[in-house]
Amino acid sequence: MSQDKSKQPMKNPRKKPYYGTSRRSVIKKSFTQEQVEFTAPISSDPVVGIIGGGMSGLVCALYLEKRGIKSTVFDTGIHGLGGRMGTRTIDPQPLTFDHAAQFFTVSDPNFAEMVDLWSKNGLVRQWHGAIGELESGGRFSPLPPSPPRYIGVNGMRPLSESILSETSLVNVVRPCWVSKLEPYNGRWYLSENGKPCGHFDAIVIAHNGKCANRLLASSGLPLIARQMKRLNLSSIWALLAAFEDPLPVPSIASEISLEGAFVKGIDSLSWMANNTTKLFGSQSSRPHCWTFLSTAAFGKQNKVPQESIPSSTAEKVKESMLEGVEIALGLPENSLKKPFYSRLQLWGAALPTNSPGIPCIFDPCGRAGICGDWLLGSSLESAALSGMALANQIADYIESGGTSPDEFAVGLHNEFQPLEGHDIGQFPGLDSEKQINKALDLQLMT
Ligand SMILES: Cc1cc2nc3c(=O)[nH]c(=O)nc-3n(C[C@H](O)[C@H](O)[C@H](O)COP(=O)(O)OP(=O)(O)OC[C@H]3O[C@@H](n4cnc5c(N)ncnc54)[C@H](O)[C@@H]3O)c2cc1C
Repeated sequence: MSQDKSKQPMKNPRKKPYYGTSRRSVIKKSFTQEQVEFTAPISSDPVVGIIGGGMSGLVCALYLEKRGIKSTVFDTGIHGLGGRMGTRTIDPQPLTFDHAAQFFTVSDPNFAEMVDLWSKNGLVRQWHGAIGELESGGRFSPLPPSPPRYIGVNGMRPLSESILSETSLVNVVRPCWVSKLEPYNGRWYLSENGKPCGHFDAIVIAHNGKCANRLLASSGLPLIARQMKRLNLSSIWALLAAFEDPLPVPSIASEISLEGAFVKGIDSLSWMANNTTKLFGSQSSRPHCWTFLSTAAFGKQNKVPQESIPSSTAEKVKESMLEGVEIALGLPENSLKKPFYSRLQLWGAALPTNSPGIPCIFDPCGRAGICGDWLLGSSLESAALSGMALANQIADYIESGGTSPDEFAVGLHNEFQPLEGHDIGQFPGLDSEKQINKALDLQLMT
């Protein structure tokens, strides 16, 4: 078939072709980095520097400790560790919101073991509230109670803060934004805007997105940089809103009201949950703190720099999301009472949309690895499994003495595949058992 040349953009013959920063050109550029090759023997008392204190970085530190290896976790969090396990508490009321990860399921036996321990230690518990799918007009279909849904007892962030509470070989440095990695004399030297952060025998990149791409761009780790560059991430808006009175949500036969719902068919909304009933029970007298999360499509349509959201965009997004709530609940237009508190946030690098499907990446020549949810999926479970896998890979490599690095290389060339799941991630076990209980598929009573 011949091409219709008349429809192609006119080219200015005097101008050099502009390639911008297309992914291809950046990948090519990252390939021009020279690979670091550490040949010096590994110290007998090695320390690993972990950049990122979300679920994957924390679990990596925990599992390195289980193998007797020390680590330092660096995290940018001003309010605390946890990354996308964020919980926001607004004083003096207080108002509490999980503003990214909402709950998680468990399918892997290793993750199950960890969650059992957290459960015994009072860090997590099951969420027994009604969760289901909500279609516009207020039609609620509850999900069956199995598989169990877990939440942090006081929210997700406190869970991340306590994961390391019983460790003794893990040092946490926060807030700290590692901005440079430099290999020197058999070690990695980390710094934050010129301020030294210490030196390490191996490093772990436990974060992703633009920040990781920048950090890796001139690190001497071209293979790792290339894999990171291949990752695509969605954007999701989070609207936190507190209401004096309960929202007129649907309830099911036993008078149990909706506490969390995957919203279907509404562009501006993919999830809504009542944090107050989720965390403090249905009898709580606290204000009703709701988290509303947008769809990825809406995030993309309304994408702006997350650090400086124009007020006009913020207004428009908030309005559209509250309108979405009205439609989802089947309420008349403009009848939803205004929240007395609201806060809007954009998760600019929210969830991975593709994955190499390998638990971790490790470059033994550069003594550097990557862990994160995206290596396996888009859930807290995949982040935890990735952290575990990388810790074991590094520990095996260190125990080997580092003499035959090739045996320990993993994930440096894996191709990426698209990821399926909800807009707010995957919930292993939930979808496979998604025979939504039709018997309970009752009309919402608003
Ligand atoms: C809106 C939203 C809703 C979600 N809902 C769910 C859910 O209900 N259930 C579920 O299972 N999953 C959910 N997820 C996904 C889940 O939150 C992630 O899979 C998981 O938290 C990822 O953990 P991580 O360790 O890979 O990365 P992150 O949590 O992103 O951790 C990376 C950390 O590295 C830090 N960092 C970045 N750059 C640097 C640097 N240069 N120096 C130092 N530190 C740095 C960051 O501050 C961050 O703390 C949701 C995600 C979003 C965005």
